[in-house]
Amino acid sequence: MNKPTTHEHRRILVVDDNQAIHADFHKILGGKRETPALADLRAALLGPKQGDSAKNTVQYDLDSAYQGQEALVKVRHAVKEGRPFVLAFVDMRMPPGWDGLETIEHLWQADPDIQVVICTAYSDYSWEGMLERFGHVDGLLILKKPFDNAEISQLACALTQKWQLAKQARVRRHELEAMVDERTALLRTTNDALHIEIVQRKSAEDQLRHDAFHDQLTNLPNRALLMDRLHQCLERAKRRPEHILALLFLDIDNFKVINDSLGHGAGDDLLIEAAQRLVEGLRSLDTVSRTGEHTTVRLGGDEFVILLDGIQKPSDAALVAERLQERLSLPYKISGREVSVTASVGIVLTQGECEDVNELMRNADTAMYRAKHAGKARHAMFDETMHVEAMARLELENDLRFALERRQFEVFYQPIVELESGRISGFEALLRWRHPQRELVSPMEFIPIAEEMGLIVPIGRWVLDQACRQLAVWNRQLPPERSISISVNVSKRQLEEPQFCAEVGQIIRDTNTVPGSLGLEITESTIMAAPKTMDRKLRLLRQLGIQLHMDDFGTGHSSLSCLDRFPLDMLKIDRSFVTNLTSNRKYSAIIYAVITLARNLNMKVTVEGVETEEQLAQILAFECDYAQGFYFAKPVDVHTASAMVTSDVPWMKLA
Ligand code: C2E
Ligand code: CA
Ligand code: CA
Repeated sequence: MNKPTTHEHRRILVVDDNQAIHADFHKILGGKRETPALADLRAALLGPKQGDSAKNTVQYDLDSAYQGQEALVKVRHAVKEGRPFVLAFVDMRMPPGWDGLETIEHLWQADPDIQVVICTAYSDYSWEGMLERFGHVDGLLILKKPFDNAEISQLACALTQKWQLAKQARVRRHELEAMVDERTALLRTTNDALHIEIVQRKSAEDQLRHDAFHDQLTNLPNRALLMDRLHQCLERAKRRPEHILALLFLDIDNFKVINDSLGHGAGDDLLIEAAQRLVEGLRSLDTVSRTGEHTTVRLGGDEFVILLDGIQKPSDAALVAERLQERLSLPYKISGREVSVTASVGIVLTQGECEDVNELMRNADTAMYRAKHAGKARHAMFDETMHVEAMARLELENDLRFALERRQFEVFYQPIVELESGRISGFEALLRWRHPQRELVSPMEFIPIAEEMGLIVPIGRWVLDQACRQLAVWNRQLPPERSISISVNVSKRQLEEPQFCAEVGQIIRDTNTVPGSLGLEITESTIMAAPKTMDRKLRLLRQLGIQLHMDDFGTGHSSLSCLDRFPLDMLKIDRSFVTNLTSNRKYSAIIYAVITLARNLNMKVTVEGVETEEQLAQILAFECDYAQGFYFAKPVDVHTASAMVTSDVPWMKLA
């Protein structure tokens, strides 16, 4: 690369009280360019300069000062102007002003970079003295008077060159420093940004972690966190045999009613408040000793779990359950209404003997269901028999699911006897389950489960269909005056089906059933659970011409006076009254009163559960309409029942 010719003006100050000296310097350096010979010399002395060539010329700008003070003024001015002196030749003796050293001292204060050559005819200097005085002797040279012209030229050249290099180094250093500053600043901002991002990412991660282990609605720990904590607790419990761990499964009773009636928003509000009460309740329970941490968890829906890690005695767990249940049952203000709920709690305890978290959870759940079944709003403590029962029930549920399609059901028939004639007036259809591995399973065992599972709806439909078909078969075989009726049990769950009445209508049409020969048995408690809707449904069924029987009368706490509210044809007095009939006179009075009332309301009466001759004798005395019971016959299969129907002899000899 070809460098352009450079003209460098290098300012030199000559400080001397002798006019002749100035003239000499002008002669040597003034206005002169660096000669090629000098340039070669310089190159030899200092090494070749980049772009060095004969074209490269140096020009000196000479200035004169006759006293140190005058020199100082010029140097200061030059610095201010931005055209500093490169070099000063300073005479050692300049009376009456400052001597050479004093002058140099001042010049260096004004411009630390200026190169200085002291000119002296004497040996009146010492390097040590100067070092001591200036702290350094870097930019200082001594020229012995009288001097040779070449000496001046060389010094001027070398020193200005040195100055130039130092200046370049300084510029470079500044550039480097600026660069470093810039880089540092950049690094700092990226670092800051990085830091912010890290903080943000960390808080996002924290949030994610929190979300993964907490329930969104109530902010309580969730199942995942519970499982984690339970694992730790069980591990610890193994090492500490005195440590009692309790797990409480808490389920709000009838929560669905709140959701269905007030809406899900209201349901959520209630859950949030319930969660808060549990947490506060647990915190305030200082009567219960704690060695570990107690935790409240929401499993989902209206299910909560309380983990008591370290209690003193098993009864502490029951105490906690009671206290929490009390708190939960206080009224809630939801959607401007006052609402109350209760809760059922299942409790399981372990003292290190249980190592399986899932087993513990299952057992607490089983105990909770036990509390629900026992009537809700209470707690139940888990024991092994519950587990056995729960397993059996689970198995039964599984089998029940397929019983209908596998044709394992069978309808049995129990005769109902008209007391006046002693003839069979009809049958009650009673369901049986021929379980492949068991004896006939009683409906007492499986009907409640089928109801809970909702299976009673298709099963009940099937029973009704079967019974109606059988009735048609029998009535075809009988002369019209002896035609019989059949009654079929209907559960609450079936009646709640919106399609129920329509389906019944369909079945009686399909089977050609005379509507009046079919009776539906509905228990007193089903009717009383929702009197208004039941009343409507019963009227619809009545319109089909079907007979309606109130079953198990006397067990549902209905008052006798409300009987006329419902469109009923028959009352079936519950077996329990008959059982006590002969031992307790009170019952005979009740039965008599009921029969009288029913007659006034135009209803017939059937007495259930007649087992003995004495009972029958009593009932006959009351002039009751119908009776049913083992005294006459147990429920029998369809063949036996058919034989009873077709037998021409009066079926029963009445006393
Ligand atoms: P329920 O409707 O009260 O039926 C009468 C029950 O009393 C029958 O029990 C019958 O066998 C029994 N029983 C009749 N006479 C006597 C007696 O003299 N002494 C004694 N100790 N018991 C007598 P079962 O057949 O075991 O049925 C039990 C319950 O299961 C029924 O009580 C009814 O509530 C229900 N159930 C039976 N079949 C059906 C059905 O098809 N659908 C529905 N929803 N429930 C049914
Ligand atoms: Ca019945
Ligand atoms: Ca009954």
